[in-house]
This record gives sequence, structure tokens and C-alpha cells, in this order.
Amino acid sequence: MIPGPFEYHRPASVGEAVGLKSKLGDDARLLAGGHSLTPMMKLRLAAPEHLIDLQSIDDLKQITISGGVITIGCMATQTALINSEELFKACPILRETSLQIADPQIRNMGTLGGNVANGDPGNDMPAVMKMLDATYLVQNQSGNREISARNFYEAAYFTQLEEDEMLTAVRFNEPAAGHGYSYMKQKRKVGDYATAAAAVTLSMSGGNCTAASIGLTNVADTPLFAEAAAAALVNTSVDQQSIDAAVTAAQSIVEPAEDGRGPVDFRTHIAGVMVRRAIETALSRVS
Ligand code: FAD
Repeated sequence: MIPGPFEYHRPASVGEAVGLKSKLGDDARLLAGGHSLTPMMKLRLAAPEHLIDLQSIDDLKQITISGGVITIGCMATQTALINSEELFKACPILRETSLQIADPQIRNMGTLGGNVANGDPGNDMPAVMKMLDATYLVQNQSGNREISARNFYEAAYFTQLEEDEMLTAVRFNEPAAGHGYSYMKQKRKVGDYATAAAAVTLSMSGGNCTAASIGLTNVADTPLFAEAAAAALVNTSVDQQSIDAAVTAAQSIVEPAEDGRGPVDFRTHIAGVMVRRAIETALSRVS
């Protein structure tokens, strides 16, 4: 399939990009890695008249870790997240998640910004960002604003981003030293989107869970922050009883679609299995 005709723009700065977006409005789409947008254009599910390619804006590719705060530019690719040793030390779940996205060719092009701004419930990073309580930094011609990842997603492909806005970076606090982490994803084959996936971080002190956070991918219209599931672990030794309670709480909030990845009951079951495995793996990695 061949996309419809479009005019191509390659701004050299964020200011130029948001200027173009503001001028061209609904007729223009930002192009990051293009691995979600161009397939949609080829299927004619998207037919923008203008593409604003962000590839030349090097400032948007930076990963910085300073004072316990991690800031990742929207154009950092999934491969860049995998290859950054500094990021791995500070927040290892990002490498583990990135390695489960698609295949190396797609990861070389696909960006963190495109993945989280897309609004596809099948994308893996949004649930991780909700789990990490990340903040999305957004800019338009009038200025900047910040949106919590936990409030960003409204429905499949609908987010809080306004027509003239661009996501510039994602920011979150470095998880506590010694935390355990896991991203568990069940998929039909390599390169597939999740049947269900779970992101978990937790901290332990003296055999007691002091903090936990859980996010869920592709089991509802939006990524989910499983607050009650995480609360079921806190102030426990993360024994089987509390893990069972967390699984039950997570399963109570999922609303998966029935599709090629299975019926609702199956995907709900798999969500529970992913949560259980992610908690157990995170616990085993606490140091
Ligand atoms: P693009 O495709 O360029 O953009 C996606 C959308 O976000 C567009 O609407 C675009 O306008 C908008 N956008 C991009 N950047 C910004 C910005 N800075 N501000 C505002 N809006 C912006 N993803 C997964 O998470 N898990 C998978 O398992 C997975 N499997 C895949 C398998 C295949 C075969 C393919 C082709 C893709 C797969 N993907 C998967 C998607 C891939 O990770 C994409 O690269 C990613 O979702 C989108 O990133 P992108 O940089 O390619 O964005």
C-alpha cells in the first residue's frame, strides 16, 4: 500500500517544529521514528497533508540523569535506551522493556516519544511511564506545560495532547537504589504486541515491602496504573497471600478487547499471570 500525498518538513529546532504544528494544525502530523505512523498512512488510516519530521533536532535525543531525576528526550530511540549503561544503572526496567518491543530494526528507529504519544494501548512504554509516575513535558508556541503520565491517556489514540502541542521529553525520579524490577510480556511471537504485560518495581527493607508500583499494558483502552494491586504488596513480606491479592486487584481493573490475541477471559487470566511473574521476578532482584 502507498500512502497518500503529503508535504515533508524537516525543522532544525523545537521552536520551528511547534511553529509549523501551530500553523498547519490538524493537517500536519509529527513524524518521529515513523514505525507507527507510516504503517497507518500506508493503510490510509491516517492521511496527513504535512509531515513534520523531528529527526534533525539533536536536542530531543538526549538522555540526562542528574540529581536523582531522569530526563529522556522524545527522539531517544528504543535502541538508545537499551545502549545507555548510565540509564540501565539508574532504571533497568527501561532496557528490559525496550528489548521486548518489536525487533532491532524497529527499535533503531522507534522513539520513546512516539511510543508514549501515540496512544496505542499496545505500546509498551506508557504503562511503564505510569508505573514510574513519569511527567510528560509538552510545548507549543505559547510555552510549556507538564502532564502526568497517569492523567495523559483518555482512550485508545486519545490523549491530553492538544493539536498544536508536541511532547519534548519524559521526566521521572530515579527509582530507589536496590529496587527490584520486572517487565513481563506475553506475546504470540517475537515482534508482536502484548497479549498482556505487567511492569513492576518494588523496594524491600528488613523483609518488608516499603514501596511498590505496577503498570499494565494492552488490557484496556489505555495503559493502566494498578494502584490497588501495588498497595496489596506494601507492608507485607510479598508472600504468596499478598501476591494473590495483588493479582486479584490487577485483574479486577482490566478490560481487554476480544481480538486475535484471545478472548476476554484468556487475556484477563494472562494479565494475572504476568503480574504474578513480574512481582516474583522483581522480588528476586531486590538488592
Ligand atoms: P511515529 O510512528 O513517528 O509516531 C507515532 C505517533 O506519535 C504519531 O501520531 C506521531 O504524530 C506522534 N508523535 C511522535 N512523536 C511525537 C512527539 N514528540 N510529540 C507528539 N506526538 C508525537 N511498539 C511497542 O511498544 N511494542 C511492540 O511490541 C511493538 N511492535 C511493533 C511491531 C511492528 C511490526 C511495528 C511496525 C511497530 C511496533 N511497535 C511496537 C511500534 C514501535 O515501537 C513504534 O516505533 C512506536 O510505537 C512509535 O514510535 P515512533 O518513533 O516510530 O513514532
